[in-house]
Amino acid sequence: MNLARESIELLEQAARILWFEGTKHGLRDREWMALRFLSRANRFSRTPSALASYVGTTRGTASFIIGELERLGYLERKRSATDKRSVTLSVTQQGKKFLVRDPVNVLLEAIAVLDDEVKIRFRDTFRHVLDHSDAVEQRHHTDVCKRCIFLREDRANTDSKTTAEFSCRLFRAPIAEAEVDLLCTSFEHHRQ
Ligand code: SF4
Repeated sequence: MNLARESIELLEQAARILWFEGTKHGLRDREWMALRFLSRANRFSRTPSALASYVGTTRGTASFIIGELERLGYLERKRSATDKRSVTLSVTQQGKKFLVRDPVNVLLEAIAVLDDEVKIRFRDTFRHVLDHSDAVEQRHHTDVCKRCIFLREDRANTDSKTTAEFSCRLFRAPIAEAEVDLLCTSFEHHRQ
């Protein structure tokens, strides 16, 4: 029995829920992927180029996806006050509500009923597979900020309380505590 091959065969079948022909609830698979990603991405990754990199497409196709999601009222773009060329994408309230129809929710629900220990092993197993594939192919993947090699954490003791302040050494910017759990396309993991 080849357990690795069997796992990939199961993964292939689960991926059919993510990748499909036509539309589901009016969106194509890549549009769902974009909306899902932008609802979880940090401020550095809510840009057209980061979206193109995450979805694995060209800037032109990413622009088309953004236009479609904007037209439907699920996304809005804002120009930066300091740099008029840079654009930040935000999922609207309507877009957040629409995500309850996301086709991947059936997978989320199936995983949600597992014990926490199993969920952690499941997540870590996927991470191991991605980290290892990255090392082989010399590519970076997207992951949560708190695991990134560029995240700096400064701890301070005040009034018998320990507080933590985070910053990004790549973007040279402060990171709020709530942002450390968000996705970033500039993420880089620790090499062993
Ligand atoms: S620390 Fe890493 S993941 Fe976090 S914002 Fe910086 S580059 Fe992105």
